[in-house]
Amino acid sequence: MMKTAQEYIESMKNFNPRIFLGGKRVNLFENPTTLTVIKANARVYELSQEPAYQEIMTAVSPYTGGRISRCLHIAQSIHDLERRAEMALLTSQMLGTCNYRCVGADVLNALAGVTWEMDRDLGTDYHQRFLAYLKHLQENDLACSGAVTDPKGDRSKRPAQQSDPDVYVHVAEKKADGIIVRGAKVSQSGAIGCHETVVIPTMGMREGEEAFAVAFAVPNGAPGITYISQYTPFTAEREVVSDIRYLGNPEYGQRETCIMVFDNVFVPWERVFMCGETRYSGRLIARFAKTHRMNCGGACKVGFIDLIIGAAQLAAEYSGVQKAPHIVEKITDMIRISETSRACTIAAALKGSEEPAGSGFYLPNDIFGNVAKLTVADGFWEVMKWVGDIAGGMAVTMPSEEELNNPESGPYVRKFMCASAPAELRLRVAKFVQNWCAGLHGAGTWHGAGSPQAQKMVLYALTDLEEKKRLAKNLAGIKD
Ligand SMILES: Cc1cc2nc3c(=O)[nH]c(=O)nc-3n(C[C@H](O)[C@H](O)[C@H](O)COP(=O)(O)OP(=O)(O)OC[C@H]3O[C@@H](n4cnc5c(N)ncnc54)[C@H](O)[C@@H]3O)c2cc1C
Repeated sequence: MMKTAQEYIESMKNFNPRIFLGGKRVNLFENPTTLTVIKANARVYELSQEPAYQEIMTAVSPYTGGRISRCLHIAQSIHDLERRAEMALLTSQMLGTCNYRCVGADVLNALAGVTWEMDRDLGTDYHQRFLAYLKHLQENDLACSGAVTDPKGDRSKRPAQQSDPDVYVHVAEKKADGIIVRGAKVSQSGAIGCHETVVIPTMGMREGEEAFAVAFAVPNGAPGITYISQYTPFTAEREVVSDIRYLGNPEYGQRETCIMVFDNVFVPWERVFMCGETRYSGRLIARFAKTHRMNCGGACKVGFIDLIIGAAQLAAEYSGVQKAPHIVEKITDMIRISETSRACTIAAALKGSEEPAGSGFYLPNDIFGNVAKLTVADGFWEVMKWVGDIAGGMAVTMPSEEELNNPESGPYVRKFMCASAPAELRLRVAKFVQNWCAGLHGAGTWHGAGSPQAQKMVLYALTDLEEKKRLAKNLAGIKD
């Protein structure tokens, strides 16, 4: 059965994850910043219950026969791919932060095909284990985060060459009933607020790196797991503000991530989906990247840009410049960037295909997915430039909305911050703009779903330059 938002919240109270934030141990529900992760997840559960969004937020599972969250669905068609991208777009529009189940959804999709192949080629039972786990997630409508990014240590060295092997998650010991894993994953979006986390290697492993070719699932706060949360100026601001409405994204805050430490964590065999099969680890991360770049890299950020465009238009109207030709042009440019990126994600879905052949699982087109992510990575800075321009200097120089409650400073702020709209509205929208253009989202969008250089390498490798040369030679009349 699919959970309501309230059922999700109640179910998370059964966990007591070991979370550190700002140097202190904090409680998931009591800390104002970690609470934003619970609220964002609860909103995603809520959206999944709304009839208007049923086609986007849910699907029918071929494994349980019931309606499930699309966050737990394995794409069975191009239609599913397109709906998945729409879900990323919708949740970003509604939250202005991460759908913290997004990475998990894409890891599950990558694991489906690779475990299927391993069972076919190697006679393992990884796929059966995976399907049993998937059914467990689907039947209980569990929130599942995805852990991919290792700390990686010295980037010029392979995992086995690192002075500390723990900078890549690896198998420390194999036992009769399971494995002991050690290491950490960094920049983990919302892992603190999810019931489960699925873990895969951050890159393809080679012979001799078997210990690092490991994929598995763990419940929130399993013994040996510690979460060390990010701490930013936004965290500090949330700790002191008297009313969260004065924050840039009041309910859902920033994209909250953490370092997830695995200090000798026991994983039973039924939750292990790869253990030493280096030859399959490369395609696992490649398939994850393929789907994640369409969803997180592309569609999700289009949803963010929609919010930024809306705020830019409001800011222009509140200060009375909305008809100025250069403002109209800048808003139009932002729309162009947003719609180009969106078109790439739709193309990635529509040009998707069954992979591996015969599995019944679908993945997006790699070229369009990578182009979607690259277009957004560049375009997002451009969009932030324009919204900063349109909102004026007050996007970064504004006083707090708290001043309006102060009998001494409030009247001045009302008087001098008023334009074609009252000070309250101008301050509120400026703060919303500040959240985007002077916040964490630029670098976040750049690196989320992989730093752009990774996409450029894929793009270059996948493009058939011989065919393009042949076309040019043909018209230019060049004979070999
Ligand atoms: C907001 C946000 C949310 C995220 N959420 C998640 C999540 O939920 N789960 C998850 O698993 N990950 C998550 N990530 C991690 C994300 O996938 C990584 O940030 C990304 O893959 C880049 O890795 P890195 O941060 O270690 O950067 P680095 O690897 O340190 O990259 C920095 C620079 O070094 C370059 N570089 C790196 N290695 C090499 C090399 N060998 N040779 C040449 N150049 C190199 C890169 O191209 C880049 O220019 C998130 C990231 C962000 C910003």
